[in-house]
Amino acid sequence: MQKAILKKMHSIFNDPIDYLISLNGIEYKLNDYIGKHMTIEWQKKVVCHCGKEFSKFYRASFCYKCYWNSPLASQSIFKPELCTAHLEIEERDLEFEKKLQLADHYVYLANSSGLKVGITRATQVPTRWIDQGASQAIILALVPNRRFSGDIEVALKEYVKDKTNWRKMLSSEPDQLNLKEIKKDLITKVPIEYQKYIYTDDSITNISFPVIKYPLKIKSLKLEKTNLIEGTINGIKGQYIFLDNDRVFNVRSHEGFIVNIDFN
Ligand SMILES: [Zn+2]
Repeated sequence: MQKAILKKMHSIFNDPIDYLISLNGIEYKLNDYIGKHMTIEWQKKVVCHCGKEFSKFYRASFCYKCYWNSPLASQSIFKPELCTAHLEIEERDLEFEKKLQLADHYVYLANSSGLKVGITRATQVPTRWIDQGASQAIILALVPNRRFSGDIEVALKEYVKDKTNWRKMLSSEPDQLNLKEIKKDLITKVPIEYQKYIYTDDSITNISFPVIKYPLKIKSLKLEKTNLIEGTINGIKGQYIFLDNDRVFNVRSHEGFIVNIDFN
């Protein structure tokens, strides 16, 4: 058992994906513990991005003050179409927003629980797809800032979902899609001013996850409700660890939780 602050799992693009969890600065390869036992006991304390401890978060993984003031929790983080740093307009912290927004972004199509459109910083590929549990992905456009990717995404949302049905994503591998054909059709829906950003490389990224057994009737575990979680690891997909009895644990949604954790 060791005391640690939970962070999202890291991944390495292999076949299947390798997952790493960092505990007190040491990375453990979680794939080696599939079929083995995991224990997580929440200490009823969380740590916010600001470094302060609380008994629980206000919203997402933020305390009240950070949620309403931190540039990490500003509206444009959740809605890229509201980004304004490219116009020198500050939301909460212009320097921070420039760093985040004025970088190459991809608009992509992925197949996680069916077709979806999404955006990500170019440096976050394929991590973003792995985190979402996507089995296939293709890049649709490469743009110079986050706002343009948000605008294209909004235009495509009329035709394609932008959310993952996580229960469906967790319960099986999706049927394969012909992403090249779908892309060919969807690029005609990209607004004219963004046509020059269409990505000409049509290569598909295929992703397979280390899963022995998929959950059937999914039960999502939350440390606020059950502060002791233990069981046998059946696999890992997206940011979820699959446990016996159809239980799933979303590591990312527990970022900042102080726990005692053990694998054996
Ligand atoms: Zn805070």
